[in-house]
Amino acid sequence: MTVSPTSAPALEFSGVGVTYPTRRGHTEALADIDLTIAHGEFVALLGPSGCGKSTLLRLATGLLAPTRGTIGLAGHPVKGPSRGTGVVFQKPHLLPWKSVRDNVLLPASTLGLDPRASRARANELLERVGLTAFADGFPFELSGGMQQRVGIARMLLPDSALLLMDEPFAALDALSRETLTFELQKIWSVQRKSVLFITHSIPEAVFLADRVLVMSPRPGRIVESLAIDLPRPRTLDTFDTPEFVALTQHLRRHFNASPV
Ligand code: ADP
Ligand code: MG
Repeated sequence: MTVSPTSAPALEFSGVGVTYPTRRGHTEALADIDLTIAHGEFVALLGPSGCGKSTLLRLATGLLAPTRGTIGLAGHPVKGPSRGTGVVFQKPHLLPWKSVRDNVLLPASTLGLDPRASRARANELLERVGLTAFADGFPFELSGGMQQRVGIARMLLPDSALLLMDEPFAALDALSRETLTFELQKIWSVQRKSVLFITHSIPEAVFLADRVLVMSPRPGRIVESLAIDLPRPRTLDTFDTPEFVALTQHLRRHFNASPV
């Protein structure tokens, strides 16, 4: 893990805004975003569809520059894609002609990592996400949930200090989604990465995070930062505790005017 020489946060947005030019004018996607993620902190970001969540994540990856404001990674301004950041999107975007293991190894070639050490790490990660038996298979032989596990293993390959995850479980069935949520907690508890995890599942956010940020409809602004002090490791029983229920109900009020 990369250790920052300063006490600067893992990720910091100051006064960030994004306005996209469009054919009929412009779309203000994000406004006045100030956020910090401390080293080792797991932050979940919740918001309605179209509020600018993916835009915010793309800013953090360095793939998109902000219209206003500044973004820092461990105290350094973001100027483009960084090897210190692991990313996973809603779809895993695997290369169909490469084996499962070679898909996990993709960042090794782009980042110029040691091939032998990377291969050992890929095997270790494939085991951790339960895909050892499929390492030499191809993406088309895997279910959607298994493909997403490959994407997660690939994200973890470079041992980046900061992980950015954009609704990584959104396309999965409920059971795979729950299993991967538990696995992600396990991986995080061992490695203690800094994480920005985007979701629109309130229980998933509360279950995983140290802190949940809530965004308003577009232009997205952060309207709440809620600390989640539930003890870890969180288990199936966590979902039934009064504290968990109170936190999810509190968050639900942002999205639902009337209780069900
Ligand atoms: P979310 O991930 O929360 O659903 P997005 O960040 O994808 O939201 O989009 C926020 C807003 O910005 C939406 O209104 C979307 O249409 C617009 N938008 C996103 N990407 C672009 C783009 N490249 N060009 C123009 N508008 C965009
Ligand atoms: Mg999105």
